[in-house]
Amino acid sequence: MEKTLVILKPCTVQRGLMGEIINRFERKGLRLAGMKMVWLSDETLSEHYAHLKEKSFFQRVKDAMRTCPVVICCWEGLEAIRVVREMAGKTNGRNAAPGTIRGDYSMSVQENIVHASDSPETAEIELKRFFDESEIYDYPLNNLWSFYANDEI
Ligand code: UDP
Ligand code: MG
Repeated sequence: MEKTLVILKPCTVQRGLMGEIINRFERKGLRLAGMKMVWLSDETLSEHYAHLKEKSFFQRVKDAMRTCPVVICCWEGLEAIRVVREMAGKTNGRNAAPGTIRGDYSMSVQENIVHASDSPETAEIELKRFFDESEIYDYPLNNLWSFYANDEI
């Protein structure tokens, strides 16, 4: 099964939406494999947002991500990386479809509730960036049969 990284951004912590967003992933049927609260550093954020380093908003985005601690989660499921990205919706909350997390909770391109890994390669790198191996738990779901058919897993 795939594992993917989700960060509940400072806007989500400040607005008291953490439980609501975690609830969405739980209801979808993803397994929570790891979760912690972290106050990110500019150094870690420079790595994490390296693909934006030429953009005018690079520093602004990094600064916004360390106005308070964030919640970092690892969610697992079949095709979890794509599924979670689709649940997050388009980057700009004003363009994200209703029914997606950003579409339902955000009016902003920057303050857009969650970060979600965008590919298997990125997920692997990001999970290593934010979690020690010992912080990812591979406990079984005892009722996996109620989430998937036999031939799906
Ligand atoms: N961002 C922004 N302005 C932009 C593009 C991105 O403030 O024009 C912020 C936004 O918070 C976004 C993050 O930078 O989530 C990372 O950008 P990316 O293009 O990777 O979007 P994502 O993968 O989060 O949808
Ligand atoms: Mg991205």
